[in-house]
Amino acid sequence: MRLSQMLFVTLRDDPADAEIPSHKLLLRAGYIRRIGSGIYAYLPLMWRVLQKVSQIVREEMNATGAQECLLPQLQPADLWKESGRWDTYTKAEGIMFSLIDRREQQLGLGPTHEEVITTIAREMIRSYRQLPLHLYQIQTKFRDEIRPRFGLMRGREFIMKDGYSFHVDETSLKETYQDMYQAYTNMLRRSGLAFRAVEADSGAIGGSGSTEFMVLAEAGEDEVLYTEDGKYAANVEKAVSLPIDAEASQFTTYQKHDTPGTDSIEKLCQLLKCSPTQVVKNVLYQTVYDNGMTVLVLVSIRGDQEVNEVKLQNELTKIAADYGAKTIIALDVPNVETQQTWTAKSLPLGYIAPDIADEYIKGDKQIHSQFVRLVDQTTVDLKNFVTGANETGYHVVGANWGEQFKLPIQIVDIRKARLGDRAVHNPEQTLFSARGIEVGHIFQLGTKYSQAMGATYTNEQGEEKPLLMGCYGVGVSRLAQSAVEQSYDQDGIIWPVAIAPYHAIVTIPNINDAQQVQIAQQLYTELNQAGVETLLDDRDERAGVKFKDADLIGIPYRIVTGRAIANGKVEVVERATRKSQEIVIAEVTTTLQ
Ligand code: ATP
Ligand code: MG
Ligand code: MG
Ligand code: MG
Repeated sequence: MRLSQMLFVTLRDDPADAEIPSHKLLLRAGYIRRIGSGIYAYLPLMWRVLQKVSQIVREEMNATGAQECLLPQLQPADLWKESGRWDTYTKAEGIMFSLIDRREQQLGLGPTHEEVITTIAREMIRSYRQLPLHLYQIQTKFRDEIRPRFGLMRGREFIMKDGYSFHVDETSLKETYQDMYQAYTNMLRRSGLAFRAVEADSGAIGGSGSTEFMVLAEAGEDEVLYTEDGKYAANVEKAVSLPIDAEASQFTTYQKHDTPGTDSIEKLCQLLKCSPTQVVKNVLYQTVYDNGMTVLVLVSIRGDQEVNEVKLQNELTKIAADYGAKTIIALDVPNVETQQTWTAKSLPLGYIAPDIADEYIKGDKQIHSQFVRLVDQTTVDLKNFVTGANETGYHVVGANWGEQFKLPIQIVDIRKARLGDRAVHNPEQTLFSARGIEVGHIFQLGTKYSQAMGATYTNEQGEEKPLLMGCYGVGVSRLAQSAVEQSYDQDGIIWPVAIAPYHAIVTIPNINDAQQVQIAQQLYTELNQAGVETLLDDRDERAGVKFKDADLIGIPYRIVTGRAIANGKVEVVERATRKSQEIVIAEVTTTLQ
């Protein structure tokens, strides 16, 4: 592309409404134009960057077997009413743009596509033979953000890659989730970004229900807490730690109370919608430990889709209140969304029901919470599980009825983490803090949408089961701007080569010099033919202006047909290092290739 023919307008001064470097630079260098609040035009240079990022994303997705498609942006309200999200998404604080068509039908502009994909799955997936299945798209999303800002970082219209996977079971879901973790890692590495994958779900501490990919930059809206050994990193919203004074309380011996009485069992019956005999089958074991401030309720319930975690939480709160406790933790409550039975084998570290843990960790920061860790996975056969289980420091986990395991537990105080705290996985490690930009988010959804919308499949035994789902998002436009936020200097953008709009720019210092022009045009043609995407600055401008612009737009290599041509050479300047070399004209293409 010749600059003389491009819509190429750069600004000398920082635009007034831009707060962070990447936003200022993209505006100044003519990559984007603001059209309205959180609404931007991607000009030709930006579009090339976005296509490069999209291509990297696409290649990594395709390599995992995911299939690209394109879903509608106009979404019927009915779908969102089925999933139960219409009201929350369209009310005052909601982020969904909604509209009414000429037939008075309500529609929304897609902020995300769970509803659309689930309705497709409901209609098209019949059998376990069709699974697993993973569809993704790269498309514009609409979100009426409360505070659109920082250019493409938080737009109201932005480009996202979103993928949705469907599975027969948790194992298959976890496999795809792991593949996505790797694919996202590859995408960000290939895009030349420094990033961290962080835990984003306190529901399963130590587990991997949800991971955010954070590009590290001062301007990031998120805070990440991490350990130097790299073994722990979490969004501060979710991070937990050992309190500074944890030493003393680490192995507290808890005083055991009796198993809550019949009254509680009856309440649990109502809750589980079953008879007391069934409760005995369902509720394998309950006991309460009390350290005077916090009560720990240990409950094992066999997987039962009718368990309502919120109700259960209320119930457990009442039980705890009976003991005069402020807070509780429940263990091994089956996850309603995934309907997973937490068995001895599936409990890697201990488990706190998401709702309860969330409440707990968000709650009073002064109250230390407890984290129960299963010390090892040794299983001990129990003759009389109730008696055995009532030993302090042990907890019974039910696998199948009639087959229980006794697992030793260690009770460790944890709390909502802050900078300087000690890590739960290793008290020797302190937590450091960094700012991050969330560019990707992968999530195990379980059966949340398939259940609400009735998306089922038939398993090998001929039974109808709800589909398990995962969802995976990358902010393509946010990622592109994050690259600038991580890589710039006082003169402009320094694009990582992989996502730069062009690899090289041939600058003609003086377009009235026929020899300069001739050599430049020759190199320009040769480089493009060799696959080195090259711009030609053939504008009638002063050399200084051209050099400034080349620096500003951040093209990795600048080739100048200046004085050196007298010796059959051109000057090649690397944008990132400013290293300048004189290279024989005939060797330029092979050097840059
Ligand atoms: P945030 O916490 O920044 O609001 P989110 O958690 O709401 O993001 P997700 O629903 O997880 O976002 O969407 C997947 C990805 O889409 C995000 O990781 C982010 O990269 C991108 N994204 C989300 N909202 C925006 C936005 N308003 N502008 C640009 N990109 C966005
Ligand atoms: Mg958001
Ligand atoms: Mg977020
Ligand atoms: Mg997110």
